[in-house]
Amino acid sequence: MGLYLILMGVQGAGKGVQANFIRQEYGIPHISTGDLFRAMRTREDELARKIQETMKAGLLISDETTNEVLQDRLEQPDAKNGVIFDGYPRNAAQAKWLDEYLASKNESLNSVLLLNLDVYTAFRRAFGRVSSADGSKIYNIFSTTDPIEWKYEDHPEGKFPPRVAGTEKETGKALVRRADDANAGAIIRRIDTYLETTRPLIEYYRGKGLLTEIDAEQPIEDVSRAIKASIEKSKARS
Ligand code: AMP
Repeated sequence: MGLYLILMGVQGAGKGVQANFIRQEYGIPHISTGDLFRAMRTREDELARKIQETMKAGLLISDETTNEVLQDRLEQPDAKNGVIFDGYPRNAAQAKWLDEYLASKNESLNSVLLLNLDVYTAFRRAFGRVSSADGSKIYNIFSTTDPIEWKYEDHPEGKFPPRVAGTEKETGKALVRRADDANAGAIIRRIDTYLETTRPLIEYYRGKGLLTEIDAEQPIEDVSRAIKASIEKSKARS
């Protein structure tokens, strides 16, 4: 039996960081549907272009396309012993598809880890998120301890909010910001979508006895510790 985990939580709850922890600890890949879609950025076909437009607006990609892209990824050899789902499922139809897909492989979900975060904190985390030029390090402009320098730069069309321009102190290289994080309206739309369509999934998984709630306001290491304890418990159960 593989180890199949879902990481749930509003944008900015720290799913990416914790997925990295789980990947290192348990040797299963981190599958973020958002990352899979972002990786299609360089493709020039109609579908890829539409996906980028939808993402930029903070809206959800269709279930059909999402499930197809996900299935392709799940069928790669490194995913045979389990995976960490991040950003998937996002609604009831996707949750049902996942149950059926895993059942067809004689597998099932071990645990659903919900990282709880107040939505105003979530906004600051998403809006302030920047990364190093190669994407390997993630910082936040609102964190006073991060080794970065930044300032607001007027938007070329004079719009609000202004743009963020920054550099990583160590390398002197320019920081990179996700297009959907830089757009305050899109962040609010993503939080709205989360509250409306993703949150009902919490009750679905609670009903199945798979849900563990974790306070994502805690320091990263404490969240990781709580996650590990929950995974160990779920492994003992199966
Ligand atoms: P994320 O990186 O998880 O915040 O996802 C970024 C964007 O990718 C979302 O705002 C959606 O446009 C799209 N996306 C990611 N995962 C899904 C999903 N499971 N279903 C539909 N759209 C998704």
